[in-house]
Amino acid sequence: MSDLERLPPEYRCTAGPDAGPEELLLTARKVWLGKTTEVARVLPDRDVRMVGAWCFLDHYGPEDISSGPGMQVWAHPHTGLQTVSWLLEGEIEHRDSLGSRAPVRPGELNIMTAGHGIVHSELSPPDHAPRLHGLQLWVALPAEHRDTAPRFDAYADLPALRRPGVTGRVLVGELDGVASPAVHFSGLCAADLTLDAGAEVSLAVEAAYEYGVFVVVGDATVAGTAATVDQLVYLGRGRDGLTLRAGVEGARVLVLGGEPFTEEIVMWWNFIGRSHEEVAAFRAEWESRADRFPAVVDRSEKVMEAPPMPTVALRPRPARRAGR
Ligand code: MN
Repeated sequence: MSDLERLPPEYRCTAGPDAGPEELLLTARKVWLGKTTEVARVLPDRDVRMVGAWCFLDHYGPEDISSGPGMQVWAHPHTGLQTVSWLLEGEIEHRDSLGSRAPVRPGELNIMTAGHGIVHSELSPPDHAPRLHGLQLWVALPAEHRDTAPRFDAYADLPALRRPGVTGRVLVGELDGVASPAVHFSGLCAADLTLDAGAEVSLAVEAAYEYGVFVVVGDATVAGTAATVDQLVYLGRGRDGLTLRAGVEGARVLVLGGEPFTEEIVMWWNFIGRSHEEVAAFRAEWESRADRFPAVVDRSEKVMEAPPMPTVALRPRPARRAGR
């Protein structure tokens, strides 16, 4: 996945005030990925830039792509982050500059650690399934790991979380005693949970983490706040339990958590750096195809050029704004 906004803003995030538990209802905005795929982007939000190190969340579909090419995200670079791909329906093919060539399928988690630098593409195969539905998230890497060697990891058999009225998978980290083996570099958690109609569940969570719950299908009440598809309830930190209740049609939700990310980061296009100048240098390296960004192996394909950088350097804003 890539930020394909024509003039993407530069997000500067600094640690917000530590205000403890709260409930903020965020609604995703619609963004086009190229000409073919419309996504609902809920992170970064105007008021909540990050949930732990989770700094980007796109939800695409469910969409009928039977008469079109489906996802067409051509080769593009990343630095300083991990991409986490989780498909609900359909199939995408991932290829990258390490030589990875992997089908992204429902129930199989793909994590690409960009670190120092990587290039990848994500395309619906030519003979793709009629429907496409999925999520892509980015994780900001902490300073000590953000220049790490790039790697690609796939997990086909994630641990199940089953409680009365609820089934799901823990994708990253631990939730309610169920732990995923997926590679991560700061205290993090993600879980995809399906709740039966009207089901209510209480899950143990880390008081030191902040949490958010994103509704993927149906309606759910999250710690007392009602949310529907493409809304995220930001919960702050300082809780030891989290209560979810599904609406009459049931619900599918993505639970996200993590230790508050206290480093100031600059996010622009597909790069995460620590200053405007550093991100501008990444952009220049991509435009000159420097060694940081090798070609995608075994595919002669289109490449995405970087958009122009904003001419006005934005002031840092807290990961979570105070006063709301
Ligand atoms: Mn990408």
